[in-house]
Amino acid sequence: MQELLIATTNPGKIAEIRSLLAGLPYSVIGLSDLDANIPSPEETGTTFAENALLKAVYYREHSAGLLTLADDSGLVVDALRGAPGIHSARYAGKNASSAEMISKLLSEMQGVPIESRTARFVCAIALAGDGMQTVFEGSCNGLIAFEPRGVGGFGYDPVFIDVELGLTFAEIPPESKAQRSHRGKALREVREFLQQLPV
Ligand code: IMP
Repeated sequence: MQELLIATTNPGKIAEIRSLLAGLPYSVIGLSDLDANIPSPEETGTTFAENALLKAVYYREHSAGLLTLADDSGLVVDALRGAPGIHSARYAGKNASSAEMISKLLSEMQGVPIESRTARFVCAIALAGDGMQTVFEGSCNGLIAFEPRGVGGFGYDPVFIDVELGLTFAEIPPESKAQRSHRGKALREVREFLQQLPV
């Protein structure tokens, strides 16, 4: 079975991707399964898609040409002119907790009324293979809550309200988030693409 390298060391992300790609003829591995310890590349792109592609191409080159999948994601808030955007992970500093990121976000949004609190999560997933480089993007719309709600998920989930459900992403079960989220949508496109790719 052909190996598919997921360019992350995050076991949660690998598990999520493995389960969404189940049944396809690929053996999914992560960076920690490689013998070499590859230094991370600089994410110099200005969009999610550019950063995802840059990572996929980089790790393919450093893994002796494995088919490689890399993602880049974040939260885009209209009232903050698109921030935190591609800087979502480091919005409140390099090792900041989810609570610290949320607290910074809510303080930047003080006084913004509910109708102007529109936002979206975006996820770009890139694949780099033999003569092939492609990017899939998924997004989901929501509103930024006035205070955190729920204990599930990660990152900005407790303040991201799915308007259709009236609940934050931290208040819904993981299966429901996978159905509705930016990452779930992008991954389903990847799955369809891989299904058609000759192995
Ligand atoms: P990266 O794509 O792993 O660099 O992560 C981007 C950052 O965006 C994460 O650290 C989170 O802060 C945020 N983010 C991306 N996707 C989600 C999500 O599904 N829920 C909450 N926060 C997210």
